[in-house]
Parts: sequence; structure tokens; C-alpha cells
Amino acid sequence: MKRWVAAACCAFSLFAAGSFADEVKSLVRVGNLTGLQVSALVQEGYDVAKKGDGFAEIVVEKSKISYFTDKGHTVKILVDDLDLYIKKVKSAQTKSDKYFTYESATVQMKKWAEEFKHICRVESIGKSCEGLDIWALKLSDNPEKNEAEPAALIMGMHHSREWPSVEVPMATMKKLIEGYASDPELKKLVDSREIWFVPIVNPDGFKFSQEKSKYWRKNRRNNGNGTYGVDPNRNYGYEWGNVGASSSPSSDTYHGPNAFSEPEVCAIRDLARREKFQASISGHTYSELILYPFSYGYDVPNPDQKVFEKMAGDMSKFNGYKPITSADLYPAMGDSDDFLYGELKVLAFTFELCSTFIPSPGEIKNFNSINVPAYLYLIEKAGTYGLLTPSGEDEIVNALDFDSGIKAIKDISQLFAGEANASVRNEVLARIKTISLKVAELVDQQLKAGSTDYLEILRNTPEAAQALDFVSKKVLFNSEHGQAYRGDIIEAVKNR
Ligand SMILES: [Zn+2]
Repeated sequence: MKRWVAAACCAFSLFAAGSFADEVKSLVRVGNLTGLQVSALVQEGYDVAKKGDGFAEIVVEKSKISYFTDKGHTVKILVDDLDLYIKKVKSAQTKSDKYFTYESATVQMKKWAEEFKHICRVESIGKSCEGLDIWALKLSDNPEKNEAEPAALIMGMHHSREWPSVEVPMATMKKLIEGYASDPELKKLVDSREIWFVPIVNPDGFKFSQEKSKYWRKNRRNNGNGTYGVDPNRNYGYEWGNVGASSSPSSDTYHGPNAFSEPEVCAIRDLARREKFQASISGHTYSELILYPFSYGYDVPNPDQKVFEKMAGDMSKFNGYKPITSADLYPAMGDSDDFLYGELKVLAFTFELCSTFIPSPGEIKNFNSINVPAYLYLIEKAGTYGLLTPSGEDEIVNALDFDSGIKAIKDISQLFAGEANASVRNEVLARIKTISLKVAELVDQQLKAGSTDYLEILRNTPEAAQALDFVSKKVLFNSEHGQAYRGDIIEAVKNR
């Protein structure tokens, strides 16, 4: 088996990918490829944007296309001159259909923070290689305080030429911020979560791609040997290494001299360690996929596979994308999801948005409209499924409000109904018990104040039987020990 892998790897070694800025690059579909040959392309440092049955879509210097045809592979040119393509996209922009830039996104976020101070604030979480601020917008009630609420992280723009990855976070912010005053559901979501947006993780690369019309992928690190750029999504320090990542500084997937060598990546690492997120999305283009850990190797067991599958499956209903384990696209070491989940147990997803790197500006509204609901789903479920993993700390459970507690009990109970694995079942039951105790406490408080609204909801929620049991025990115990409830409430609890 190993010999076959070695043979496949050598097949493309003559033309390992390079990123010399001035060469004209094309986006091509290379056909007649075996699965091993696709893996070899990744291993040689190509950005494999899309993989299918017997083909891969890659960015390649125009001068190298003939190597593939000489080897008997079919080559379909999807975009002949990518830099020219960017110029065309830019000139097709109108006042209403245009991509955000680093400047316009920064201005917009600061404007929101100024105008909606009560729910958001902006913070620089670090500086890029070239000294630009990496801006984060935090959205929550009491945004200045670090409250014990489920937290979600939404990122875009690890890769410079993947402009839509900035748009969806910006559109999600807009929806939540501008809808806050009029839409009770959006208000509830903002109030009960801490939502962090970092729409432009890699400002230098984004500016370079937009301002110089370059089909650039990496950041703008000067590697000191005439080459530029480290791939930020190969630089995270969980299983950092050479699988699906290159040690060659000229490669599109250069992983850097060491893990966490890049300031942009360190900024995300430090934010994540500080804020302890329950769930996250990192946006990329393209392929119309929803990916989840692990990425660094095939068949790496994921203890939360069931939760990832459920959430990815639900999100795919909004955008029609295909949910798969990241390594099933191809294994790659050092990506953000592996770090966020591997080290911090964040339910971390990557969206490969759209069907090309930079769709025409007229498409922006369309890809936002199918993806914003999926992002909102993730933010909401940070407070239900997100409570299952070790990152769903007791501190957060103990601060849950009634609605969030009920939703968490429902989601978790339904997903694990009939779970056959005894140790998983016990872990989940223990988690539901902790949440049920919190919910019972909130119901009891309300009953003491003379209202039965929560009790009614509990009685109508079959999954919350345990919480209801806790409530009745509490009420009966308390009433026998001198605490007053209305007579009809005690009767209602007895007759549940
Ligand atoms: Zn990407």
C-alpha cells in the first residue's frame, strides 16, 4: 500500500505548486485522476478547491498546465487568467452589489458599535504581519461584560481570494443588529449568547488580493527567500505538520516555519482560549460543503461525531451544501477546526461557500440568503448541543435562562434517544440532569412568585420529565418546610 502512495506522490513531483506572484494562474479541472493522485496534488502543495469523482479543480500557473496534459490527464480551463478575472469582478460591482473591503468592513463594524452600543463593541484582537488590526465584533446584551452565556465564533477570510467568506459574517451581523429591536427571536438570541465575529482574519492577504487583483491565498509574510505568505489555515498548532500542507515557502499551502508562527493565527488562538466558545464557523470558498473535524488524518475517531453530523445535516438544509468529515475532502494538518475542537472542544465547522472562489457581485445576495440562516442556527445551537462537550461548562449551564434550558434538554434528549453505547448514554444523562436541575430551580422561583407559565411548558414537554420531577419534589419539600405556594400550585404539582 505504501508503495502505491509513494508512486502517486511522485507522479506530480516535477511540478510542485509554487506561488510566484507574477505568473499568470488559471483555475482548471484536471480529469483522469485516481483518488491517490488527488491526494498527491494536495501533498504537493496545490490548493485543491474542489474534488469530485476522478477530477480535482486546482489553481495552477498557466505555464504548468501542459505537464498534466502530457501525462494523459484531461484539463478543462475554468478561468484562464485569474488576475484578469478579479479585475472583471471588480468592474462588475455596483452600488448595491459589491464586496466588502478591509476598509469598508472596518467602517461598518465601528459604525454598528457606535450606533448600537448596548449590544455590540469592536475590539482589535491583534495585528497582522503588515501591522493591520484584526477586528472582532462582539454581539450580546451587556457587551462590555463577560457573562456566563453560550458563546459562538464566526470567522471569515483565512484565505485571501475567498471574498464571500467576509460577506456572510457581515450579513449575519447586519441581520442580528438591525433586527434586534423589532424581532423578538433575534433579540432573544443576542441576549442569551455571546457572539464573536472576526470577518477578516487575514487583512493583509485580503487587501493584496483586492487592491492588486491577485488570486492570492496566504497571508503576506515575507519568507525572506523571494517568496511571500504562510497559509493561515495550515498554521494552527494542533497536529501541525506536513500532511496536506507544504514545507516549501513558495507553496500555496505553506504551513510556516512552526506552529502558530503567524500573528493572525495567534490572534484567533488567544481569543478562543480566552472566550471558551461552544461552537464556531470558519468560512472559505469553494465547493458547497460543510466540513467538521478531524482534518489531519483519515478515520480519526471524533467523540462528538453524532453531534457534528446532526448539526452539519441541519445546516445543510438551509444551503443545500454537502456535510462531510474534513479529511474526507482530503487530509490537511494545521487547520482552525482541528485546533478549536481538538484543544478546546469547540463544535467547529468549516463552510466551503459557493461554487467558485469569487462569484460575480450579483451573487452576493443569493449566497448570503442561504447561508445566514445556517450561521444563525449555529449560534443558537451553541447553547444546546454546545453544552454537551467539555467546553459547555457548568458555569454556563448554571446561568441558563428557562427557554434556553428547555431547548437544550429537548435537542440533547432527541439526539441521543435510544443511544446504544452505555458510557455515552450515561454522560449525556448526567448532562441532562445538570440542566434539568437548573430548569427546575427557575420553575420553582416562578411558582413562588405565583406564576405557572413555566410549569405549563414543562408539563407539555415530554423530554423534560426529569425537570418536572425535580420541580414537584422541590415544591412538596419546600411546602412541608414552611415555604408558601398557592394552594392550586401545590395541587397542580401533585397531579402532574
Ligand atoms: Zn480557504
